Amino acid sequence: MSLIAVRNVEKIYRMDGVEVHALRGISLAVEPGEFVAIMGPSGSGKSTCMNILGCLDRPTTGTYLLDGTDVTTLGDEALARMRNRRLGFVFQSYNLLPRTPAIENVELPLVYAGTPDRRARARAALDSVGLGPRARHLPTQLSGGEQQRVAIARALVNSPAIILADEPTGNLDSSTAGEIMDLLDRLSQQGITIVLVTHEADIAARARRHVQFRDGRIVSDEPVRARTVAPQGPVQP
Ligand code: ADP
Repeated sequence: MSLIAVRNVEKIYRMDGVEVHALRGISLAVEPGEFVAIMGPSGSGKSTCMNILGCLDRPTTGTYLLDGTDVTTLGDEALARMRNRRLGFVFQSYNLLPRTPAIENVELPLVYAGTPDRRARARAALDSVGLGPRARHLPTQLSGGEQQRVAIARALVNSPAIILADEPTGNLDSSTAGEIMDLLDRLSQQGITIVLVTHEADIAARARRHVQFRDGRIVSDEPVRARTVAPQGPVQP
């Protein structure tokens, strides 16, 4: 069974009586452990697709099975629970609370989920991205790459099946971007499924599969042949 199974999904936004067809019938199956890069020009439907995959929005028509559950039929609360338990999000702008230490930013999804042992789990997630020593730092006291690692720790803290990353390296220089991709690659090797949006070919080359969007449709879906592989070994703090 596919972890993600999107079938014939259309998304129509209605604004001032005008219809915008953001997705025109996309189908996409992602198996556990895949590392997928979504590419395509601006306005082609990538964000709309990610919002649906992330249970932040619903399709107008079509179905989305997430780990076998048809999320298009879930109510808001069940959808939020699904999002919190199964998905981790990483954004271009990190989306950390600025006046909150790194460790507490990482704890947030656990607070929402009412999980016990929050501090220990957050600590383990920060350690796993090499940022244990920065636990008490505020986001403003961290570099961009470090902030993104905190955000990845926050995405990991609920042990999600899937990480959805929207331009995760868009604000980083190329060397730091490479380090973030090394980290995502390592998570992928550990079996976490990763779907990432990028417009940079060298970032997409780190994935194992490319899905290309145009005008609300998937126009190609291929394995990456000349894949750039991460160096082995742990990520350095
Ligand atoms: P991409 O992420 O590839 O740039 P989007 O998914 O953001 O593309 O947008 C696809 C199309 O849907 C665009 O024409 C965009 O203007 C439109 N769109 C996206 N979000 C909304 C919205 N909330 N309301 C109305 N139209 C939208």
